[in-house]
Amino acid sequence: MCGIVGYVGPKSTLDVLLGGLRRLEYRGYDSAGVSVISGAGLETRKKAGKLDNLVGEIDAHPLPAAHIGIGHTRWATHGAPTDGNAHPHLGGSALKLSLIHNGIIENHANLRRLLQEEGYVFTSDTDTEVIAHLVEKELKATGNLLAAVQKSVKQLHGAYGTVLMDKNDSSRLVVARSGSPLVIGLGIGENFISSDQLALLPITNRFIYLEEGDIARLTRNSIEV
Ligand code: GLU
Repeated sequence: MCGIVGYVGPKSTLDVLLGGLRRLEYRGYDSAGVSVISGAGLETRKKAGKLDNLVGEIDAHPLPAAHIGIGHTRWATHGAPTDGNAHPHLGGSALKLSLIHNGIIENHANLRRLLQEEGYVFTSDTDTEVIAHLVEKELKATGNLLAAVQKSVKQLHGAYGTVLMDKNDSSRLVVARSGSPLVIGLGIGENFISSDQLALLPITNRFIYLEEGDIARLTRNSIEV
């Protein structure tokens, strides 16, 4: 289980994400990636290897200024450490959801088969990608990301700390934990999520530790657990 950082607020999202991921490098990882939502839409960059490889990728293909985003360092359990298997993973045919995940989804093969039968196309070998498509499927039914995550996690067996955002709603992150830690960092007019408070220590010293089974919605000015 490796590193998660998410941010919503006025600062440069990329700086917050890369700074947080740097502070989690000590945990070890094999690939890294970020997604941000801006006026230009949802943009994702990911790269196998060290964080510097991701930074090089972003230098080559710059990201727009953004005020919401998610970042991940991966320790591969399902699927080789390649660019394509790095997180974030995108959900649905419209690729409107972006998701990062720590942990292992034990019933991933079964879920993958069911989703493929419904026409979902997988682009990675990870267990994680099933969550992205499953939530997208539930989002189509409910029209609400929080409700979609609530319905999806009931179908997951295994461990997860996961953070999602929807390209059509740049105001909020939805997070869920079971068997893999997540901590919310509280700011003023900004909020953070991480798998490890160390990632956020220079930025805030006010934390909410999510408990097993918690699902939360974060905006700049609100936290609902
Ligand atoms: N099981 C996921 C994967 O292999 C997440 C690994 C992690 O916790 O970094 O992509």
